[in-house]
Amino acid sequence: MFERDDVKFLASFKSDEPNVVSLYLNCDGREFLPKEVYTILKSMILRKKSEVEKIEDKNLKREIIEYLEKIEDHVIKNYREFKEKGLAYFVSRDFFYEIPLPIPPRNRVIVSYTPYILPLQFQRDLYGKVLFILLDKHVAKFYVVTPDKVEFLEDLFTKVPPKVKRGGWQGYDDKKNMRKVDEKTLHHFKRVGEKAFEIFKERDLDGVVVGCKNEYFGDFVEHLHSYLREKLIDNFEMVIDAPQHEIFEKVNNVLSVKRIESRKNLIKDLIDKSKSGGKAVLGLESVVRNLNENRVEHLVILRDYDCSGKLCPDCGSFGVLEERCLKCGEKMIEIENLITEIVDRALLKNIQVTQVTKGLGLEDYGSIGAFLRYKG
Ligand SMILES: [Zn+2]
Repeated sequence: MFERDDVKFLASFKSDEPNVVSLYLNCDGREFLPKEVYTILKSMILRKKSEVEKIEDKNLKREIIEYLEKIEDHVIKNYREFKEKGLAYFVSRDFFYEIPLPIPPRNRVIVSYTPYILPLQFQRDLYGKVLFILLDKHVAKFYVVTPDKVEFLEDLFTKVPPKVKRGGWQGYDDKKNMRKVDEKTLHHFKRVGEKAFEIFKERDLDGVVVGCKNEYFGDFVEHLHSYLREKLIDNFEMVIDAPQHEIFEKVNNVLSVKRIESRKNLIKDLIDKSKSGGKAVLGLESVVRNLNENRVEHLVILRDYDCSGKLCPDCGSFGVLEERCLKCGEKMIEIENLITEIVDRALLKNIQVTQVTKGLGLEDYGSIGAFLRYKG
């Protein structure tokens, strides 16, 4: 996703006017009919237009409205049904980008000097791209596995002398010969480990899975660079000539189990810390209070959770119900998508944001929580 040339371009683009429109649309067919998606899009654009109407610069105003309408027309003309879970649009004077999204995004329109690409990070899975190393005693094969495909990269051979019986003191010689093979195998593992590290660095991967006989695994891991050892997700038995479809299936099965485990552990950690009075909080009010005080380190929320709330037009503090800002006393304004605004604020402030699915337990604690840098 992030390797796309258009995203690279967008990341580097800066206009000299606030005339770049970024729009994210959730069009997940499991949730919405096409008609509903159009309605959501139209009301989102209508709301933005009424905000844009307040801009004094007539040309700028006209320009932004034109881009908003361009997106609306494009979606309605081109989509009778939606095959993607989401769509992102980035439009300005010299470009019109449409990027299909595999994970449903939060709906939002942002008008700014730069394309708002931060939410694209949620499109990258926890283990979006992993290195799969398949090895035996003298061969190794390297693959990159993503949720939608497996790609063979290269293989590596190390010549190992065959186990031959020699004359003389059989026992002694056998042992000597055995040790030689073992050393050679270890040498092979070392080479595989080095190659793996090289590939990993070069390709910006998220984790490592190893396929080999269980008896080799321990020795092989010892020859992995410590950095890769930390990135090791799992291992299983697999023969060296396993077909690619089998690799794809097996690796992705392992990853989906690990993905759920890791999210569960994160939520458990959040709940445990919060209950024991550690550096974590649960529930909207506590999260908002700590976010306003700049104490949040890592925000954890349910992917499709949102609600209305309050925003201080003066200092930018968020609120849940309060009529007046707790920080500066200004009258709060009503906002429709408090959680999306919170996510966007967090992204802009470089706070880590993890969105989790239902069923892992966060919904029992208000669907939102945060790890804190320090306690208030
Ligand atoms: Zn305020």
